[in-house]
Amino acid sequence: MPNSFRNALLSSGFVLLVGLAIGAYFGFAVYGLLIAMSGLFFLQLGRVLRLEKTLHSGRRVAVPDGDGVWARVLAGIHRQQVRVRKHKGRYRRLMKEVRQSSNSLPDAIVVLNLDHEIQRFNKAAERIVGLQKRRDRDQRIDNLLRHPDFVAFLRDGKFDVPIIIPSPKGEDCWISVQLVNSGQDSRLLILRDVTERTRLSRMRRDFVANASHELRTPLTVISGYLEAMEADSMLRDEWGKPLDEMHTQSQRMRRMLDELLALSQLEANTQASMEQTVDLATVVRDAVAMLETAHTVSIDLDDNLFLLGEYPDITSVVTNLMSNAMRYSAAGTMISVSWSMTSDGGALCVCDEGEGIAEDDIPRLTERFFRVNRGRGRDTGGVGLGLAIVKHALARHDATLSVESELGVGSKFQCHFPMERIVSSPVAVAEASGGASSHF
Ligand code: ADP
Repeated sequence: MPNSFRNALLSSGFVLLVGLAIGAYFGFAVYGLLIAMSGLFFLQLGRVLRLEKTLHSGRRVAVPDGDGVWARVLAGIHRQQVRVRKHKGRYRRLMKEVRQSSNSLPDAIVVLNLDHEIQRFNKAAERIVGLQKRRDRDQRIDNLLRHPDFVAFLRDGKFDVPIIIPSPKGEDCWISVQLVNSGQDSRLLILRDVTERTRLSRMRRDFVANASHELRTPLTVISGYLEAMEADSMLRDEWGKPLDEMHTQSQRMRRMLDELLALSQLEANTQASMEQTVDLATVVRDAVAMLETAHTVSIDLDDNLFLLGEYPDITSVVTNLMSNAMRYSAAGTMISVSWSMTSDGGALCVCDEGEGIAEDDIPRLTERFFRVNRGRGRDTGGVGLGLAIVKHALARHDATLSVESELGVGSKFQCHFPMERIVSSPVAVAEASGGASSHF
């Protein structure tokens, strides 16, 4: 037993003995003992109350001299208090540094709880989206950022791809929005000012669209004169070959301008409406009938599978993939087209037994003007924009393109449409007949 405890027991025993002795001297030994016990009790109670008051006030506990029990207890509490203060100081410094660094970030960071209510945000959030500390704390973020794309982004919970929306500050400002899970019960909303980037890409898109549009008029004039010259038999005899070449090149240029314009339009409008029901099986059958070919075409189409989207885009996807399959595989080989349901949506698949594509070239296929073999591409009339159009048209339908290919064996181009865009009957027909269209 430590000395301090033995001393405490001895001194308490001594006080009780003195009380008992004095009581016995006056003939009331028990009262003497009781008075001594009460004295000891109130003494300790007084000390406990003083300690409780000191702890409650947050002041530091004073350690008395000596090494009695109370001195040891108070010294222990004092040591704990010093340690806690040190930790608090370190934590406060750390928090200050975190706050300073988060305030010096160029991006807005907003901490949300799982109900998407604002908990904290940095200085950039005030600048980029105009959040205000007093006004906006505990508000739902979609009360402040009300753009429908952002509301849908929060609702759908697909946070892996950032979205770009107009800033609530207006003035033609744009922000990219990303959400990441930062803990069990919080999320970080990262908002980046992309006004400059968006303006530049819009300028590029507008430039390409305007240039393509403007170039069509002189090209039409040139093509007109070319046709007139080709019709003249005297000129034709002398200039036959150059005229044919000029005609082919002017057609190629026309196709390039049309495809550049189509691409700019697809880029300008990133989401396809879901109001139309596209009968994809019929689109494929029409494309097979339109694209005359010396190939054997096999089709396997689910006629009860419809797509919520836009006809021109889907027609362009089907014709681009099918005409590629025809241009890059030998006559007489098999081309198979299928449209079917998969576990996660609808799949349109175009397979050929053609020349195939090298593994390194596959990731570059959807780049503008990319052609595996530039010389050969020109022979086939290709301009290298078809698959870029396919990619953008699919993206507008929340769909993706995957390519599998083996040199000399053939290629498989597969479009994956999400379940939300697949229906089992045409909505328009179902509505007209009072029936219901069922989503898968
Ligand atoms: P292009 O108008 O040149 O066909 P695309 O963007 O449609 O442009 O295709 C880009 C390139 O991808 C083509 O030049 C071709 O080299 C290659 N490619 C596309 N589809 C196929 C296919 N089915 N088989 C082999 N190569 C293909």
